[in-house]
Amino acid sequence: MLPHRAVYEEEHRMFRETVRHFAASKIAPEFRRWEDAGIVDRSFWTAGGAAGLLCPQVPEEFGGAGGDFRFNAIVLEELSHSGFAGPATDFSVHSDVCCGYLLSYGSAEQKKKWLPRMVSGKTVCAIAMTEPGTGSDLQGIRTRATRHGDEYVVSGQKTFISNGQMCDLVIVVARTNSEGGSKGMSLVLIEADRQGFRRGRNLEKLGHLSSDTSELFFDEVRVPVGNLLGAEGGAMAALMSELPQERLTIALHSIAAAQKAFDLTKNYVRERNAFGSSIASFQNTRFKLADLKADLSVGWAFVDQCLREHIRGELTTYAASTAKLWITEMHGRVVDQCLQFFGGYGFMREYEICRLYADARVLRIYGGTSEIMRELISRNL
Ligand SMILES: Cc1cc2nc3c(=O)[nH]c(=O)nc-3n(C[C@H](O)[C@H](O)[C@H](O)COP(=O)(O)OP(=O)(O)OC[C@H]3O[C@@H](n4cnc5c(N)ncnc54)[C@H](O)[C@@H]3O)c2cc1C
Repeated sequence: MLPHRAVYEEEHRMFRETVRHFAASKIAPEFRRWEDAGIVDRSFWTAGGAAGLLCPQVPEEFGGAGGDFRFNAIVLEELSHSGFAGPATDFSVHSDVCCGYLLSYGSAEQKKKWLPRMVSGKTVCAIAMTEPGTGSDLQGIRTRATRHGDEYVVSGQKTFISNGQMCDLVIVVARTNSEGGSKGMSLVLIEADRQGFRRGRNLEKLGHLSSDTSELFFDEVRVPVGNLLGAEGGAMAALMSELPQERLTIALHSIAAAQKAFDLTKNYVRERNAFGSSIASFQNTRFKLADLKADLSVGWAFVDQCLREHIRGELTTYAASTAKLWITEMHGRVVDQCLQFFGGYGFMREYEICRLYADARVLRIYGGTSEIMRELISRNL
């Protein structure tokens, strides 16, 4: 069970029930099939929209529920704690990350066009920063958007893009000025039906098996200048202001998944016997579980503090990086120790702990690696 937390109010508790019901009725029956296919059904998106799970922070004038970011957090926590890390990431990239850029930097016209479709799930959104040659160092990107009259012509290649197969709209980070260093990069909206846009392979991964993660190719894709998101040259500043929210969501995803691993393990050790008593009775088990419980308690307290700060508009890069670093590393320790308590069964895919272990690994990598988080934190020492 996710712990009771004072950061949430009654309306959030009711929404949590909706998300829990969605996970049990719409994801659980299909999940195995989606993992085998490497992608969810398109109907997962429209069902998510119909249930109010997509972009809940979007104002009512654009078709949303006008909720605060705690509603986004609940979707992520519940899908993650249900063991559905792939769907949690799919929705989070769309609702928490992409939608954040449109809300903060979209023109009135862009918001009117895209937000209602993102809320309903008719449009699935992806964000494409990473390239084969560069991930952590975004200043090294080579994808170019060159202005020709009223259009940008976009050429380049991206990789590891979540929702890459499913997306209808991609927020692309591209270089608009080769001289401009970090100020030479811009965000450009590219619709997936534009000529010259091509999806590569759906990449095979260690975990998040139902999530589509892809290469994307842009071969002289022409878009009107109205597809620029925010100011020309403004990508780096936009990323700096939006990345703390993305890192907070990854921390929320991580701690809910770690809690799930702990809950499963607590039950397992009570049922499994060795040397005439339950595994739970050994001092080693009790002490190790006590350590994990302490880690989780500290993690929940810090992530809730960050969530409160974020609602007040006060979440700093430092706090968000600290949350992502510490909680995703803690998540790794928790799933590793929990799997150990399952013995050989922990290594078997039919046991959920096995999937939780594999799914945990990427949280220390995407959204900025642990090393990059340390780099950011160290700048505030
Ligand atoms: C499943 C999945 C989904 C993803 N989804 C998306 C997405 O939707 N959109 C998107 O744009 N990207 C996405 N990514 C990409 C992800 O954000 C990058 O993989 C990540 O930022 C790391 O970049 P990289 O893989 O190029 O590693 P590199 O940058 O090559 O890093 C390699 C290693 O070097 C270390 N390193 C790099 N710089 C430093 C430094 N200064 N000091 C110390 N160590 C350093 C790193 O920490 C890492 O350990 C996804 C990745 C995965 C695996």
